Amino acid sequence: MRLTVIGTGYLGAVHAACMADLGHEVLGVDIDAEKIAALGEGRVPFYEPGLQEVLGRAVDSGRLRFTTSLDEAADFGDVHFVCVNTPQRRDSPAADLRAVDAVIEGLAPRLHRRCLIVGKSTVPVGTTARLGTRVGELAREGADVEVAWNPEFLREGFAVQDTLRPERLVVGVQSARADRTLREVYAPLLRIGVPYISAGPATAELVKVAANSFLATKISFINAMAEVCDAAGADVTTLADALGYDTRIGRRFLRAGLGFGGGCLPKDIRAFTARAEELGVGGAVSFLHQIDAINTRQRQRTVDIARDMAGGGFEGRRIAVLGATFKPDSDDVRDSPALAVAAAIHGEGADVRLHDPRGLDNARAVLPVLDYVPDVAKACEGADLVLHLTEWTDYRRIDPAELAVVTRTRRILDARNALDPALWTSAGWTLRALGRPTPA
Ligand code: NAD
Repeated sequence: MRLTVIGTGYLGAVHAACMADLGHEVLGVDIDAEKIAALGEGRVPFYEPGLQEVLGRAVDSGRLRFTTSLDEAADFGDVHFVCVNTPQRRDSPAADLRAVDAVIEGLAPRLHRRCLIVGKSTVPVGTTARLGTRVGELAREGADVEVAWNPEFLREGFAVQDTLRPERLVVGVQSARADRTLREVYAPLLRIGVPYISAGPATAELVKVAANSFLATKISFINAMAEVCDAAGADVTTLADALGYDTRIGRRFLRAGLGFGGGCLPKDIRAFTARAEELGVGGAVSFLHQIDAINTRQRQRTVDIARDMAGGGFEGRRIAVLGATFKPDSDDVRDSPALAVAAAIHGEGADVRLHDPRGLDNARAVLPVLDYVPDVAKACEGADLVLHLTEWTDYRRIDPAELAVVTRTRRILDARNALDPALWTSAGWTLRALGRPTPA
C-alpha cells in the first residue's frame, strides 16, 4: 500500500520508518525542511533507540522517502496518516489543533481519488467527526475521502518496539471500508496476533485520553502516598511492592518520585478536562485537576527537600543535576520535571551544573542560562549537593565512592527512587529520596 505520514516528529518519523519496515511504500511529509532533509538522508534528527537502524534500512530499500510537498502527498497516498503536534493552547488547558486543521485544509482540496485520512495525533473526542465534515466541504469532485482515527500508544524510548509489536491497535472508523483498509495496513501485525479493536471514532479518540488519564492517576496516586509516607516515617517503595503483588493493582507505574512530564501526559489530561467541560461533563473528570496538581507539587517538594539538604538556601551553592529529559532513553525535554527543578533552584541562586546523556542540546535550547556538562564527574566537580532527577541507567551505574572524590560533600537527593540507598550510604553518602526514610 502507499501511505503518507504527515508530521515526522517523535511519532511520525517512527511510524513512517516502521510502516516501510512492514513492507509499505511510505512518503513522510513535514513543514520542517531541515528535518525532512535529515530523514531523507536516513538520519534521525532526535534520539530514539533502534530508530536509526529501521530508518536507514527503510530509506536504503527505496520504500521510504520524504518531502515537504502536500501535492506530492496527495498524489501518492492511499492512506494519509496525520501525526502532527497537538500541544496545549497557550491561553487555556485545551488542545491546540491548529496543526491538525492546517493539514486537513491543505490536503483535502488536493485529493482527487479514493483515499483514507487516518489521524494518529491525540485529539479531543469529536475531532474525527468535525474533520470528516470539513473534508466533505473541501473535497474536489471525484474525490472519495473518509476520515478515521487510530490513536497511538507508543512510548518514547520504546517507540520502535511499540510500533512493530504494539500491545493493541485501536481504530475509530465510520465504515466497513475504512476498517478493511486499516486491517490491510496492519496485516503483518494482525498475523502475529496483535489485538485489533475496531470502534466508532469517538470511542477510539477517548481510549487514548482515558489511557493517559489512568496512567497519570497511577503515578500521582503513588506520589500522594509518598508524601504521606514521608510524614509518617513509612517507606513508599515497600508500600508499592506490597500493593503491586495484588494483580488487580500491579506494580508498574507505581514508582514514587518527581512525577510525570513530557509532550503527552500533562497536556493530554488537561485537554481531556477542557473537552469534558465543553461536553457538560467536567464534573465527571474533575479528579484529573487533582492528579495534575499532585504531579506539579512533586517538583516543588523536590526543590524544598533539595534546599533543606543544601543547608537552607541555594545562594552560593554548587548543585549537580543528573538528568534533563522527562524520561530516560529519550532526548525530549518537553515539560520535563527535571528541567523545571533545575530552573527553580537556579532561580534561587544555585550554581547549577547539569548533565544528561542525550538531552543537553534540547535542554540548552529551552534553558540557556544553565551550565551544561557532558560528563558526570565534571558536572559533579565541587558540588555541595547532587540531584538525581531522570532515571537513566547510566546513573544507576555510578560508583558512589568514585563520585565522592570529585564532589565537595556527599549528599544526594534521589528524586526518582532509582538508586540503591545501601550502596550510597555504605560509601559515606547521605541519600534522601521521596517517600522513604533517610538511611542512618
Ligand atoms: P512532534 O512535535 O515531535 O512532531 C510533530 C511534527 O509535525 C513536527 O515535525 C512538525 O514540524 C510537524 N508539523 C506541524 N505542522 C505540520 C503541518 N501543517 N504539516 C506537516 N507537518 C507539520 O510531536 P510528537 O511527539 O510526534 O506528537 C505528535 C502527536 O502524537 C501529538 O498529538 C502527540 O500527543 C501524539 N503522541 C505522541 C507520542 C510521543 O511519545 N511523542 C505518543 C503518542 C501520541
